[in-house]
Amino acid sequence: MNLIFGPIPSRRFGMSLGVDLSPYQKQCNFDCLYCELAPAQTTNHQDKVVSVNKIITELKTSLLKHKNLDVITLTANGEPTLYPHLDKLINDIDKIKGDTKTLILSNGANIDNQDIRNTLLKIDIVKLSLDCANTKGFRKIDRAFNGIDIKNIIDGMIEFKKIYNGEFIIEVLLVKNVNDKTDDIDALKIALNRIKPDRIDLGTIDRPPAYDVAPLDYDVLVNIKNRLGNLPINITARTEEKTKKQSFDKKEIMQTLKMRPLTILDIKNTFDENSFDIFNKLLDEDLIFKKTIANIDFYESK
Ligand code: SF4
Repeated sequence: MNLIFGPIPSRRFGMSLGVDLSPYQKQCNFDCLYCELAPAQTTNHQDKVVSVNKIITELKTSLLKHKNLDVITLTANGEPTLYPHLDKLINDIDKIKGDTKTLILSNGANIDNQDIRNTLLKIDIVKLSLDCANTKGFRKIDRAFNGIDIKNIIDGMIEFKKIYNGEFIIEVLLVKNVNDKTDDIDALKIALNRIKPDRIDLGTIDRPPAYDVAPLDYDVLVNIKNRLGNLPINITARTEEKTKKQSFDKKEIMQTLKMRPLTILDIKNTFDENSFDIFNKLLDEDLIFKKTIANIDFYESK
């Protein structure tokens, strides 16, 4: 049984050492259509629990071996906030992690629970999922354990953001013909503007899913990103945009980056060669500045 895995390079978070908080079996309060794990009955607690001591012992050994890590990532075969000793585990990791940041990858279902919110406050980077902001779509895509309500989740996220000092990321995963309709995107836009995360990772299926569902094309993701408006959105799809690059003058670049911060991948996918040269010049002149949110660089204009 491997509790610790990696380190693996992650485009979104840097060099990551993973901690599996459900190493024996899948234990999750969601049964997402796109899950890369085999389908399993949903649950709101862990039946099989690994001890904090065992995790810390293995983590210490790995930390001695692997230097220059960016993050220690708390994850699970399932949902990491179901781990009953999460609070103590984080306290113990803090004592041995040095400069390495802690990160949790959670589906967000328990963020309406104040105890969980208090625990997550101690983590440097919190990534929660929000695939759909309306009840119908949420039930369709995430197929949550009985009683889990998307309205409570969104309210919990808003509360959490108000008091959290770390980097708060929302991940949205879109599935073709499931949560990509106009109503879904409109509801998502309203929710994201209320939550105000530091970064939004927008993606689609890029690994074999548990059920028979399909990803969106990259162009469709870009279109949805634009419809979501002025939010710090990072498209996480692995494929790059195949559409024709555009030409922008200095004023257009300044205005675009003022309205919508872009990642370097967005810029490379969108700007033609001449526009990219202008962008670099503006960067040299400090008219454009870089803001890093959990290892992803966004470019904005003043
Ligand atoms: S929350 Fe994660 S582990 Fe749980 S079903 Fe969804 S994708 Fe799978």
